[in-house]
Amino acid sequence: MFRRSAAEMRVIILAPIGRDAGLLTQTLTAANINTAIATDAGALLTLLAEGAGGAIIADEALPPGALQTLSTWLVNLPPWSDPPFIVLTAGGMPTRQTQERALELQALGNLTLIERPVRPETIRLAAQSALRARMRQYEVRSRQESLIQANADLEQFAHSASHDLREPLRSIGVSSDLLARHYENADERTGELLRVIRGGVERMDGLLSDLLTYAHASSITEEELPAVPAARAVDAALKNLDAAIRESRATITIGELPAISVRESHLAQVFQNLLGNAIKYRRDDHAPAIELVARAADGYWYFTVTDNGIGIASAYQETIFGIFKRLHAYNKYAGTGMGLAICKRIIERYRGRIWVESEPGQGSRFTFRIPAGTSVEECASNGH
Ligand code: ADP
Repeated sequence: MFRRSAAEMRVIILAPIGRDAGLLTQTLTAANINTAIATDAGALLTLLAEGAGGAIIADEALPPGALQTLSTWLVNLPPWSDPPFIVLTAGGMPTRQTQERALELQALGNLTLIERPVRPETIRLAAQSALRARMRQYEVRSRQESLIQANADLEQFAHSASHDLREPLRSIGVSSDLLARHYENADERTGELLRVIRGGVERMDGLLSDLLTYAHASSITEEELPAVPAARAVDAALKNLDAAIRESRATITIGELPAISVRESHLAQVFQNLLGNAIKYRRDDHAPAIELVARAADGYWYFTVTDNGIGIASAYQETIFGIFKRLHAYNKYAGTGMGLAICKRIIERYRGRIWVESEPGQGSRFTFRIPAGTSVEECASNGH
C-alpha cells in the first residue's frame, strides 16, 4: 500500500572493522534483511543520500567524523523520521570513557545498545524490530503526503471552479443588465424576472468568492510569523462592517486583546465573520449588543464573541461549521453558509479550535482558541 524503496528498508552497517561487518552482514542476510556497509563517514554520507535507511548498526567506536555526520543528518530530517540506531558496545563494567561515549551516542535519539559478545539471534531480533518501527514511520510519511496532496488538489479544484464558473456568470450578469436597460419601461413581470436573474448572479458570485477564500485559508507556508496585535485585525474587520453596524445600531464592546502569531488577514477574516454574524443574526425586538473578549489559559488564547441574537438550536451547533451549511432562507438572512467554515479552517491551521454555545432566542457565544506563541501547523509544507 505504501511506497518504500529498497534503499529505505536496508540496514546500514557502520563498522570500521571488516570482520565485524562481515559477521553482521551474514547474520542479517540469513534473515532476509538487505544490508550495506560503510567503513568511514564519507561512505556513510553517500549511503544516507541514497535513502534514509531502515536502521543503522554501528560499533561503539564509530569511525572518525561519523558521529558528526550523523548528527548533521539527523537535524535535517523531517518530523516523521526517527531512524533507529543499534550500537554494539564493549562488555563488562562501564568505565568513565564508556559512560562519556554513551552520553555522546544519546544524541542519536532512537538508540538501542547491545553489549558484546553479541549473539546472532540478538542482533537479528533487534534489526527486525528496528525495521518494523521504521516501517511505521514511513507509513506516517505516506499518510502525510496524501493529506498534503489532497489539500493541494482541493485548493486547485476550488481555484479552477471559482475562476472558470465566474466567466459564464459574468456574461449572464452583463446580458441581464443590458436586457434590463432595453426593457426599462416594459411590463412589471419582465422587470421582476430580470431582478431575479441579477440576484441569482450576485449570490452565485458570493458563493464562488467564499469558496475561493476557503481554499486559500490553508495555503500557508511554515514561516515564522511575527505576533500581531489582535486589536488591529479587529479594527480592519469593524471597518468592513461599518454599514451593518450603523444600520443595526449595534453596540460592540471590545476587551483588552493580546498580540498573537497569526497572519493578520486571517485573524481579520475570522473576526469579520464572527462579528458580522453577531450583527446579522439579531433579534427583531432589540439592537445587537456584542462583546469580544480574550483570556489566556493552559497555553492558549481564548477569544469569545457573545451576542444577544436569535441563538442556535443545540442540534445545529456543530453542523453550522460545515461548508455551505446554513439554517435560514436566503431571503430572510443573506449569506453563503461559508463564513464559519472559513473560520474553522483558518483556526485549525494554527492548531486551534472553534465552537459555539447558545441558548435559542437568547444569544450565542462563539469561542476560538489559538496556542499562545503559535506558529503554523507543521504538515502545511512538509512535503518530504
Ligand atoms: P452564513 O452567515 O453566510 O449563512 P456562516 O457559515 O457564517 O454562513 O453561518 C452558518 C449558519 O450558522 C448561519 O446561516 C446561521 O444560521 C448560523 N449562525 C452563525 N452565526 C450565528 C449567530 N451569531 N447567531 C445565530 N446563528 C448564527
